[in-house]
Amino acid sequence: MEVATRTVSRNRCSCCRQEGHNRTRCPHDAATATRLREEYNKERREFHRALVERALRPQPRTPEAEWRATVHAQVVDMRHRLEALAWSPLPPVDGSGPTVREVKIQEILFDRCQEIPEGLYKELMDALVLRD
Ligand SMILES: [Zn+2]
Repeated sequence: MEVATRTVSRNRCSCCRQEGHNRTRCPHDAATATRLREEYNKERREFHRALVERALRPQPRTPEAEWRATVHAQVVDMRHRLEALAWSPLPPVDGSGPTVREVKIQEILFDRCQEIPEGLYKELMDALVLRD
């Protein structure tokens, strides 16, 4: 990437695309300049295609990555179960427990927490347990 950036920023002759001179000092005749320019353009195209292909290629998952993904899924599942347990609608004896509506909103927030900015998620969760 760095090499490419440097190459682009260098002065190139607009006739032959070689470095170190400009078109008014181009030592090549028209036919040679055209051939050199086409070779250069082809090289650039292939370089870019290789970059794009590399970017699009799915990353091979290492056994470690697989393991992490499995553990992560288990942790998320376990956390979900724990949260669900913690929020299971305990009968609001003195009116201070979460209402069915609050529990439902907490469940929705938890399920979609990946889609919500962390700060907002925390604020909403805190707001749901406020008691006057
Ligand atoms: Zn030139």
